[in-house]
Amino acid sequence: MARLNTFPLSFKVRGQRIVIVGGGEEALNKVRLVCKTSAEVRVISRQVEADFSGFAVEVVERGFEAADLDGVALVFVAEAGADAELAKVTARARNIPLNVVDVPDQCDFYTPSIVDRAPLTVAISSEGDAPVLARLVRARIEAMLPPGFGKMASLAGSLRKRVESLIHTGPGRRRFYEALLASPQVEAAVDASPVAGRYQAEMLLAQHQGNADGAGIVWLIGAGPGSEDLLTLRAQRLLQQADVIVHDQLVPDAVVQMGRRDAEQIAVGKAKGHHSFSQAQINTLLVRLAREGKKVARLKSGDPMVFGRAGEEISALRKAGLDYRIVPGVSAALAAAADTATPVTLRKVSSGFIMATAHGADDSELTHWAALAQAGMTLALYMGKSIASEVAGRLVAHGANPLTPVGIVVNAGRPLMTTYSGNLSSLIEGHVTLADGPAIIFVGEAVAAGDWANAAQLAVENFKVA
Ligand code: SAH
Repeated sequence: MARLNTFPLSFKVRGQRIVIVGGGEEALNKVRLVCKTSAEVRVISRQVEADFSGFAVEVVERGFEAADLDGVALVFVAEAGADAELAKVTARARNIPLNVVDVPDQCDFYTPSIVDRAPLTVAISSEGDAPVLARLVRARIEAMLPPGFGKMASLAGSLRKRVESLIHTGPGRRRFYEALLASPQVEAAVDASPVAGRYQAEMLLAQHQGNADGAGIVWLIGAGPGSEDLLTLRAQRLLQQADVIVHDQLVPDAVVQMGRRDAEQIAVGKAKGHHSFSQAQINTLLVRLAREGKKVARLKSGDPMVFGRAGEEISALRKAGLDYRIVPGVSAALAAAADTATPVTLRKVSSGFIMATAHGADDSELTHWAALAQAGMTLALYMGKSIASEVAGRLVAHGANPLTPVGIVVNAGRPLMTTYSGNLSSLIEGHVTLADGPAIIFVGEAVAAGDWANAAQLAVENFKVA
């Protein structure tokens, strides 16, 4: 492995002074960075051109003098010329760490890209070689750490002694801190006030005190319709903590791979040629894993509470007295609405939006067709692709206008998204061929307001009869 030529440190600057020699944009960039600290910052330059007014800095508009470095902790030189040279010589003579902007050879230290969640700091350095790469990595880490994360870190810090006195094993404490930092309740509370945060944390601590070895938990996580970037930050965070990931076939591999590398992965979905688990087996599996003390991410496509069999799993976990949490996800119908710019509710056209299944449980008959046909709202039908024309027939048989617009979105929220549009009668008559992949069938007048191939025609036809 290549060796580092720099060593990352966290330099204490509280109560110290940092001097920046220079008055232009580059000086301003450094000001932006060091003003994240509580150090006293002084900018010295004969030519102050940038606007430093938004920062708590002292701007001294004159030439640099050696005495300016008395008692100074760090020096940045962000301009060229005689003042800059004098500043460099002085800093070196006094062994004050020096950074000369854009001249790596003359630097004693580099400034990393920083993700600031004070007191938590993530510093990313490329040893000055690839600042752009460091900034890209920074953007990714920014997205992983919610803005309030710093407050969580302070809270965790303030609890240290108390946790040590109540939980006596290292792994037990680790599990507590992991639970603390992943808890949406604590996060919301600490954001409201430190006292509220402390209260929630104490409740969590009380739970953990009883089972210092750390009981397991099942997170029912919505993975969204299939693209990684439609996963929530919370889902991503929990996935990275999970010991085991139990996922459906509909959840793409790229999402599953966002978990920890050493996490066990169990596919339980039903797909041709794959071993499939019954719902009862899945329930038993989740209970067993959580009882073993594992943190289980139960990844479901879309939202777990929408046609996700979450009810059965939650009930099994409740019965077993195990902990669970639900993390919402973008349900397929919402991804489909977004892909096709279809407003599923629309003033004066559709006063509501119904998510319904087209398939009865265990192929039993559904009783909702009359209600759906008469609802006058936008329908989003799940699990109806293979029986799309029968579905249309049922709706018409129960009184729906045959010219009601229909839009079908296959692979919503995924790169291979495709659509079909028509109306109920064309769906009944036509031999519609749809691409491979799961589909949402929208039915309703509001469909004509979306970006479909023949949206304008759908609207006109619909009004002719309506
Ligand atoms: N919990 C999921 C639904 C699971 S049921 C959710 O909230 O989205 C499975 C059905 O969801 C499929 O038959 C299909 O109708 C729909 N579905 C899932 N992913 C989809 C996608 N990417 N595009 C279109 N429909 C999808």
